[in-house]
Amino acid sequence: MRIVFLGPPGSGKGTQAKLLGKRLGVPAISTGDMLREAVRRETPLGLRARAIMEAGELVPDEVVIGLIRERIATPDSARGFILDGFPRTVAQAQALDRLLEDIGSPLDAVVNLAVPEATLLERLIGRASQEGRSDDRPETIRERLRVYGEKNDPLVAFYERAGLLTRVDGLGAVDDVTARIDGVLRGAERAAGRA
Ligand code: AMP
Repeated sequence: MRIVFLGPPGSGKGTQAKLLGKRLGVPAISTGDMLREAVRRETPLGLRARAIMEAGELVPDEVVIGLIRERIATPDSARGFILDGFPRTVAQAQALDRLLEDIGSPLDAVVNLAVPEATLLERLIGRASQEGRSDDRPETIRERLRVYGEKNDPLVAFYERAGLLTRVDGLGAVDDVTARIDGVLRGAERAAGRA
């Protein structure tokens, strides 16, 4: 299965993408994790991305598209993958469509994890104190949520038009959210089987 997870920072999409990847035996690919790793290793990409991430802004489309192009071409992605944090713009979504067209394997489903903003703030502030992530500082959190709000509606509309989008309530215990996602994906699988 090739699945995209959409959702605001703090919605739990990283956690759910990793859990689902394990269950399906496919990699959970997070551009945020890849970029944080590049920053940690001080690679040329990391040096370029660091200030952008600390400001809560988006890294340029061509940079993340390049990361994804290489990553989904690796053998462990051949059976499928879960994308977490990519695409974040319509341009990225269009580029992803073209990449998948090239390999003849379109997306199966897009899960939009919905969590109210007050809950997101609580979770992100908690994560900042636990993990010390520099993109989880209070000023950065506000900007990340603003950027998310600006970019997400067109992305949701894009995948709605494609008939791929399902909204999943992201509130509650991790296991409950996992069960909701499983229910949605079983539906998507049945639909694919009928197609
Ligand atoms: P995340 O962990 O997915 O919230 O990503 C952390 C930060 O990495 C974001 O705030 C952006 O600065 C950058 N980033 C991650 N994925 C993307 C993407 N698809 N497009 C642009 N910037 C991204």
